[in-house]
Amino acid sequence: MNGVLLEINNLSRHFVTGGHTLKAIDELSLSLQTGEVLGIVGESGSGKTTLGRVAMRLLEPTSGSVLFEGRDIWKTRGKELKAIRRRMQMVFQDPFASLNPRMTIARNVEEPLIIHRLSGRAGRRLMVHEALDAVNLPSGCADRYPHELSGGQRQRAVIARALALKPALLICDEAVSALDLSVQAQILNLLTNLKAAFGLSYLFIAHGLNVVRHISDRVAVMYMGQIVECSETNELFEAPRHPYTEALISSLPDPGAGDTRRRIILKGDIPSLIEPPAGCRFHTRCIYAQDLCRHSAPALHAEAHPAACHFPLR
Ligand code: SF4
Repeated sequence: MNGVLLEINNLSRHFVTGGHTLKAIDELSLSLQTGEVLGIVGESGSGKTTLGRVAMRLLEPTSGSVLFEGRDIWKTRGKELKAIRRRMQMVFQDPFASLNPRMTIARNVEEPLIIHRLSGRAGRRLMVHEALDAVNLPSGCADRYPHELSGGQRQRAVIARALALKPALLICDEAVSALDLSVQAQILNLLTNLKAAFGLSYLFIAHGLNVVRHISDRVAVMYMGQIVECSETNELFEAPRHPYTEALISSLPDPGAGDTRRRIILKGDIPSLIEPPAGCRFHTRCIYAQDLCRHSAPALHAEAHPAACHFPLR
């Protein structure tokens, strides 16, 4: 690890709907080191996808800042912004929607190189070839159209397109969720290899805990627009401190006969983001909730393994 690549400070993103304000992200802070994979997990509605879009400059924040390599991506303009855009790339869940169906795979991969005016035609061809090679797409795929490829091959093509721009950061939003389990494992291994080969960093957003565990150096757990726990991956899975994390982990399939974990069934759904519960937002579903939790919001303190809980488990 070598310095902070991405820094998010007190970020909020609210949506006004039907006269109500929905707080999708609420005063969230995190940082990603160069060369690190930071996993972001949480149930649907936790705000993780909104976080990825704001970090990628696709959605404007209501307040707070996103610094990439020390520059505020929402304050930069012109050439500086274009350079930042090239160095931050996103891989979405649906590769079909990410690729132009009327272009061959090679042309899809070349397109961002043309937009960013990188190299001449011959140079671009070489860059496309290198990118497709790096993601192990069979050479015959270059001249095919997206619908002629399998789901896994299409996602490889999307990753190749991002890679061709030589980014520093990939924001992966449910990048393997739509794939079969065996293909998921292949793409996760590919991403791990590419990280090492190209010195990449990932913000890896997913609802699947096992997927995040497989690839991440650290994991941040989100609940109702906030991070409730953040830790080095093994520690988070072996010794969660926040009751929400404990419940999520307890829902994973039993790893073996020696496993003594008890299954914790979360009560009810995530409450409305329009009227979040007072105090700790998790208190309506927490099996450890006490009076204090109903009126006092716990903070996420800066420490090695922070958990936003008045009564952390460890
Ligand atoms: Fe549960 Fe209270 Fe901790 Fe919230 S603060 S997670 S309600 S114990």
